[in-house]
Amino acid sequence: MTSQEIKALTDQYIMHTYGRFPVAVDHGEGATLYDPEGNAYVDFASGIGVSCLGYGCQPWAEAIAKQAGKVGHTSNLFYTEPPARLAETLCKRTGMSCAFFANGGGEANEGMIKLARKYSFDKYGQGRATIVTLNNSFHGRTITTLTATGQEVFHNYFFPFTEGFRYADANDLASLEAAAGDDVCAVMVELVQGEGGVLPLDQDYVHAVAKLCAERDWLLLVDEVQTGVGRTGSLFAFQQYGILPDVVSFAKGIAGGLPMSGILANERCRDVLGPGTHATTFGANPVCAAAGLVVQETLSDAFLKDVQNKGTYLRGQIEALDLPCFGATRGLGLMIGIAVQDGFTNKEIAGKLIANGLLVLTAGPGMRLLPPLVISKEEMDKGVAIMKETLG
Ligand SMILES: *Cc1c(COP(=O)(O)O)cnc(C)c1O
Repeated sequence: MTSQEIKALTDQYIMHTYGRFPVAVDHGEGATLYDPEGNAYVDFASGIGVSCLGYGCQPWAEAIAKQAGKVGHTSNLFYTEPPARLAETLCKRTGMSCAFFANGGGEANEGMIKLARKYSFDKYGQGRATIVTLNNSFHGRTITTLTATGQEVFHNYFFPFTEGFRYADANDLASLEAAAGDDVCAVMVELVQGEGGVLPLDQDYVHAVAKLCAERDWLLLVDEVQTGVGRTGSLFAFQQYGILPDVVSFAKGIAGGLPMSGILANERCRDVLGPGTHATTFGANPVCAAAGLVVQETLSDAFLKDVQNKGTYLRGQIEALDLPCFGATRGLGLMIGIAVQDGFTNKEIAGKLIANGLLVLTAGPGMRLLPPLVISKEEMDKGVAIMKETLG
């Protein structure tokens, strides 16, 4: 099918919930995608931070094909090897104790919220179920995770929303103390707010939050759906912040492009969700887990160090362009935000770059770049050259 045919068929038969750019993708190689007509696009987006190994990665495709040829799904009523091995790897590399696998970021966060409420219920009974989240956060699209999301624009249409969330300003301990109370069971944060605009939390603030959580027996829940799996230059961002969360969620990059998510609980939270309290039919899918194992094998310590170097290089190259529409860059590793100057809009900039062969994302009022972690220097340079031609 041609791009036009794919677009027409999609518009006819798929619900119009997405604002799409007018590009159809057919295949890819490395960090470059191609449309059905053969036009190339340098990818600084990774399908929203998912395709961490890029495209055409043979070990990934082979692991998927091999597992699919053995068994594609069993449910969690039986045992399979790949998710057990993936959970072992994740725990050994992070110091966490055990995993629960789900299918998407919002669903993983639902599990994290359920765990926090049950931890508190088991210990203190009812009436201590409130979770404090941060303004400008993003935690998902289910009714409960929309409520957890600290942005008023998301609290619309779908009333009634789930009770038991309050919001505090990021990097402001006084605001957190003001939102606190006897009814609180947990604090939930993204260490780098992703959708909100690529806004990293301060190290000091995160340490102070962790201390407060420990003092009040609040669980510290870290949403690493976007920051996890090497994106920031460590396997999880919390490892760079020097904290150990009670529960951490992950999704986007975990299986390099197949739908998978989950949570990791630390030792004191490992038995909170017992038999019958939480489940999902598709969770811990062995094909997705086999893909996840290839991601883990690729993300060696040396590879993660290189992610940090690539992030530093790409930010430096973009800042050196000194484009009229861009302000300063920020972020961690290959999670990069760019401020957009007054008089320009991020949507318009994204549209122009995409039309000229560079896929980018927006976040808050700024630009967001989440290239495949395997991106080469040549591909980064090509993307930066497209920025220069398009926006210079
Ligand atoms: C993308 C994202 C989610 C939602 O994940 P889905 O897979 O779309 O449900 C939740 N939290 C953060 C931080 C995200 O970036």
